[in-house]
Amino acid sequence: MSILDRLADADGAFSLEFFPPKKEMPLDSVYGAIEELSVYKPVFASVTYGAGGGDSKRTIEISSYVRSLGVEAIAHLTCVGANEKQTENMLNALETAGIYNILALRGDVPDGISKYKAFKHYKHASDLIKQIKKRGCFTIGAAAYPEAHCEAPSLLADIGNMKLKISAGADFFVTQLCFDENAILNFFDLLCKEGIKTPVSVGIMPVLNPNQIIRMALLSACSIPARLSKIVCLYGNDTESFKKAGIEYAVNQINTLRDNGINKFHLYTMNKAAEIKTLISLSGIANLP
Ligand code: FAD
Repeated sequence: MSILDRLADADGAFSLEFFPPKKEMPLDSVYGAIEELSVYKPVFASVTYGAGGGDSKRTIEISSYVRSLGVEAIAHLTCVGANEKQTENMLNALETAGIYNILALRGDVPDGISKYKAFKHYKHASDLIKQIKKRGCFTIGAAAYPEAHCEAPSLLADIGNMKLKISAGADFFVTQLCFDENAILNFFDLLCKEGIKTPVSVGIMPVLNPNQIIRMALLSACSIPARLSKIVCLYGNDTESFKKAGIEYAVNQINTLRDNGINKFHLYTMNKAAEIKTLISLSGIANLP
């Protein structure tokens, strides 16, 4: 069954995200995590792409590994510093590797590059999506933001830009992490009011240590609800209790969203198999192998 068919399944769907380790690090740890989690039969496993494409070969290599385990692979791809020719080369490489699913993103400006240079050829993800769509053979995902992208003047304006991505060829969306279920529910209400029917998977990241919460909230421009701050106050100095509470928080988020009819989830694994296995088994979002 294709990714889009599985995302349309009324019983819900879940997917996983991995990232390539730093260049000097071996791939064993991410391969181990993929192997351990692929047994839960996710709809897909996606592999992130370093802005600027420095580790694009690793994105393809890891995506190929995902495929070799019988799981649909999605390679992320960004606009940063790329021109049309470089994108065509990347699309050729993906086709050669048999990877026909892409999460098309604008990316952020990395240190040492001007915004002008980073986005000289593509201003927005929708420009990249249009080019990928022309190939006719890729399923295309795009990013969505329950609390609005940091540069968007409002959530409604950001949702308007989701429509541009759909017109350009986006087949589905994956959301930025969001620790506030009420914000996610409000976002889905607005999608409904705005007539957006394209599937949207909710990105869920279990918080496993206090520094991660602050770093991820700042990077993603998302809010930290008081319930999450309390976990830091209560367990900030107790690694194991913190991890347990962070996973429980994510499980509660999933349960609340499911109670409200939302049942597509994308787990940001951070390449950590053990914690994600616990999350999967406590939330019941996948059948146990
Ligand atoms: P865009 O869709 O271009 O949106 C950026 C801003 O421009 C938004 O404010 C939007 O409202 C606005 N906008 C969009 N289209 C238009 C338009 N046509 N006209 C005017 N305004 C417009 N980054 C990486 O570097 N590598 C990754 O692997 C990666 N994976 C990600 C996975 C997910 C699920 C998510 C949610 C994000 C990921 N990112 C990744 C981060 C992403 O690149 C950044 O959030 C980036 O700042 C925006 O990317 P975008 O694709 O949403 O951009």
